[in-house]
Amino acid sequence: MTASLSHEPAIYLSLPELIAMLEAIMLRHGTSDSVARALATNCASAERDGSRSHGLFRMAGYVSNLKSGFVDGRAVPQIQDAGTAFLRADAGNGYARPALEAAMPQAIDKTRSAGACVLAIGNAHHNGPLWLDVEPFAEAGLIALSVVNSVTYVVPHGGHKRLYGTNPMAFAVPRADGQVLLFDQATAAMAHGEVKVAALENKLLPEGTGLDASGLPTSSPQAILDGGALLAFGGHKGSSIAMMIDILGGALTGSNFSHQVNSSAYPGADSAHTGQTIILIDPTKGNGSLRMFTGRIEELVEAMAEAGQTRLPGERRLAARKLAAERGIAIEAETWKQLQAL
Ligand code: NDP
Repeated sequence: MTASLSHEPAIYLSLPELIAMLEAIMLRHGTSDSVARALATNCASAERDGSRSHGLFRMAGYVSNLKSGFVDGRAVPQIQDAGTAFLRADAGNGYARPALEAAMPQAIDKTRSAGACVLAIGNAHHNGPLWLDVEPFAEAGLIALSVVNSVTYVVPHGGHKRLYGTNPMAFAVPRADGQVLLFDQATAAMAHGEVKVAALENKLLPEGTGLDASGLPTSSPQAILDGGALLAFGGHKGSSIAMMIDILGGALTGSNFSHQVNSSAYPGADSAHTGQTIILIDPTKGNGSLRMFTGRIEELVEAMAEAGQTRLPGERRLAARKLAAERGIAIEAETWKQLQAL
């Protein structure tokens, strides 16, 4: 959304109420019924789970992206069986999420029979968080790792111009209590959406987040947005992971590398035309039974706590989800106004 953010809640909505509202917005801006449903559910779920950068904050971007014609809101994904343990999906220049949903049952079946499966989604756009893409696979008892290459904002280690996207990755495994242990993070020092949020909130960024347009380190989010660049997390190590994600998201799926995305002919475009790869593993093929595997996960989680880790990745997200289930999803006043305008 464009204006500064007010944190005052205006209204509390249930998940189905929020999905219905977002679905109506998507449909109004030209998506098919199935795309509207998939994107609205994804975006509302991200908001429910407390994502400041990939929930309702993204709705204005979805709308301007659809209006720009850069993404096809009516695309019908094509799924191709590319091998015993390989599915290829062509998102048809639409969003990746409908392609993922279309391929999901077959991907799960293949993983169970072959022990593993790669799902390579090309010709796609992705504006959401990744945890919602891996969580359903872990809920089905599988290990899931997903990567997406995205809009170019990140300088390769030691370099001076943007090359990689903020290239997120998410990893999820089933736990013994039916819950999921996962992490989901950009490989940039900070996700681009978080930089936008910081700019709106007039916050300074930690050292090592990015460079200004002249290539000098800056803590100003606006300087990064105005022709500057982000750094990879963890120096050369994060830079190599960003490289890997550009390969798995771009080269493996037959899609653009982050730096090849060109939306200049589509004013208002707000996504990357790239790819997403999901690697699935059936843990029962490696360690006897699901119960034995999840038992090992609990063993590690306990050891993490004993070693002093005070919270697990994903805990903030699950706490936000629980709160939303109890009292509804809090929609801030400014966001509510903007949603109604859309
Ligand atoms: P964060 O740095 O906020 O969080 C990264 C991960 O670390 C999360 O799993 C988080 O769990 C966990 N975590 C955070 N703090 C702690 C802690 N103190 N102890 C243990 N674990 C912790 O995420 P990013 O800013 O890197 O990314 C934000 C989102 O942006 C992601 O969802 C990503 O998918 C999305 N994104 C999407 C892109 C796209 O093209 N679609 C591009 C780039 C990013 P928790 O959730 O519980 O806080």
